[in-house]
Amino acid sequence: MNTFSNSYSSRPTLRVNLDNLRYNYEALKKRVGNAKIGASIKADAYGLGAMQVGRALYGAGCRIFFVATAGEGKMLRDAVGPNSAIYVLNGPSPRDKGVLLGAKLKPVINSLEQARFWADISNSVNEPPYTAIHIDTGMNRLGFDEEEFVEFARDKKLWQSLTPEWVMSHLACAGDKDHPMNKTQLQRFKKAAAQLPITPMSLANTAGVYLGKPYHFQMVRPGIGLYGGYATNNPGQEDIRTVATLLAPILQIRHIKKGDTLGYNASFTASKDMEVAVLGAGYADGIPVLSSNKGYGILHDERVPIVGRVSMDITMVDISHVHMRKEVGGVVVFRGDQLENEAAGIGSINYEMLTRLGQRLRRDYGKPK
Ligand SMILES: *Cc1c(COP(=O)(O)O)cnc(C)c1O
Repeated sequence: MNTFSNSYSSRPTLRVNLDNLRYNYEALKKRVGNAKIGASIKADAYGLGAMQVGRALYGAGCRIFFVATAGEGKMLRDAVGPNSAIYVLNGPSPRDKGVLLGAKLKPVINSLEQARFWADISNSVNEPPYTAIHIDTGMNRLGFDEEEFVEFARDKKLWQSLTPEWVMSHLACAGDKDHPMNKTQLQRFKKAAAQLPITPMSLANTAGVYLGKPYHFQMVRPGIGLYGGYATNNPGQEDIRTVATLLAPILQIRHIKKGDTLGYNASFTASKDMEVAVLGAGYADGIPVLSSNKGYGILHDERVPIVGRVSMDITMVDISHVHMRKEVGGVVVFRGDQLENEAAGIGSINYEMLTRLGQRLRRDYGKPK
């Protein structure tokens, strides 16, 4: 006789709690007072689905978005419609010209090279999109360096043809409230920005929000905090709620004997008789191979350690010690409230743990609003 419940699916699920996403948006908004929120929604909204996340944030009142590439911007434009500003952090490039103009995306200008390239385009089209100017203040990743920026600011014809509406920079160490780099970057940013007569400024990512008012300027650009991730050792983040939970279905329960081995390479040997749940989620779904014999999931509020090597579609966990109901069709939870612990356990970070969520996951956004 078939004992499966009708709701049982062998496919893993990513549950995205859009209510909590909106809650986090409001919580961040409260913290920054009059400053605007430009939601960082790059990499498919940190793996959670840019379309749904974009629409939910739009519904909550968000009208400024940051993505990394023009392709991401185009997808987001289709999702949120014409009334939002969408900035492309990686800046303009020849291949993206058509997409940038077609989808009315605003390139972030990171260098003199990008400035000259985009100025030519701006001067040749009607109503060119506004831009944001990115100054590097110590991260040494993207953005104008100090000398370049002096040259740029002096070239009024050049920067005016870019119709810039923001100057921005990015913090390297905002997650550590005591890091001296924070103040250094703040000072460099003010000094550099003063060379350009554009008032609106933006410096803070999620962690920067918690550094306090001097870091907020006219816009903050949170990402991870919206998605329920902790970004800082600063107090105050208790108001952030969990957004993403990975549910791995139990496909089979095995009773193995002392001395038996598990999975590829037989990397685990049972030191006692054990009960093992075989889960329908593997590294293709975002359970890292590095968590083999190391990480854990949660079953009925108890930690269930990963045993054996994580494989592409399957992960095995030790459920011997769990006394609550264990059955095929039950689910073991990853990410969720354990996001930071999971990441720390394999030397990763919460950002990566979210963005590596797999394409195969069924994505459950709850009831549409
Ligand atoms: C990704 C990114 C952000 C968002 O950072 P979080 O730490 O996720 O809040 C903000 N600004 C820039 C330039 C970024 O690249």
